[in-house]
Amino acid sequence: MKLHFLGSSASEGIPNPYCKCEICERARTVKGKNIRTRSAAVIDDVMQIDMSPEFSYQVMRDNVDVTQIKDLLFTHTHPDHFNVGDLFSRMEGYGFEITHPLEVYGNDIAINGCLDVLPGYSKQRFKFNCLIPFVTVETSSGAKVTPLLANHAKWEFCYIYFIEKEGKTMLYGHDSGWFPELTWQWLQGKKLDLTVLECTYGYNQNARSDGHMSIETVLATQEKLKADGIYHSASQLVVSHLSHSSGFMHEDLVSIFEPHSIEVAYDGLIKLI
Ligand SMILES: [Zn+2]
Ligand SMILES: [Zn+2]
Ligand SMILES: [Zn+2]
Repeated sequence: MKLHFLGSSASEGIPNPYCKCEICERARTVKGKNIRTRSAAVIDDVMQIDMSPEFSYQVMRDNVDVTQIKDLLFTHTHPDHFNVGDLFSRMEGYGFEITHPLEVYGNDIAINGCLDVLPGYSKQRFKFNCLIPFVTVETSSGAKVTPLLANHAKWEFCYIYFIEKEGKTMLYGHDSGWFPELTWQWLQGKKLDLTVLECTYGYNQNARSDGHMSIETVLATQEKLKADGIYHSASQLVVSHLSHSSGFMHEDLVSIFEPHSIEVAYDGLIKLI
């Protein structure tokens, strides 16, 4: 599997246009991997996870042909992940030479949010699939996808995705916080080749943080993945959904995570497993 990070920031982006903190100010100057757009990803050029506010910019920047994407998974409906208005550009009369429908997957709030902005959509352009926690579906691009519950929003079932394809496994884990017990139970007996965790909080002296993960929570999650045998000798871990409020530039995060063999995502990063 190929995982392509379209974006790697938390909800404000880096730099946050409304912020004059040291990280945002330095990012404006040094740019490079310190410029982070909002989190989204593409797997094997055919399956997208989330649609960020910078969607059209991201796919232009990285030369991604999104007309080839067959499946779109939404983790939850916070605005940094659910820029659903851009789907209108795939409607009849707006996007041309489209040869297949986009299969959209998400919780009930996400599906209804799509329907609200796509009045009169044609079945040649969109199909919708409401996902139930822990119930595996096979996507049109041939991946087995299981939505696992996250510990993120109070009034929404937010999903992290366990994805299996061609004998490889990946966990796309944001936004999540410390995983709920039901999710840990479901993961028992599984093996992960690649895990993507969010690291939104920086250090917060809490290795079980709710809502979002801190650095301590990421490290505790890695320890538990190892202790429970979900990690194997070649398992890889990447952190993303990074925030200026952590107080760290990209290279600081690399120094923090490198001793733990954890990679720090950046916009445009491609991981192969
Ligand atoms: Zn988010
Ligand atoms: Zn800032
Ligand atoms: Zn969120």
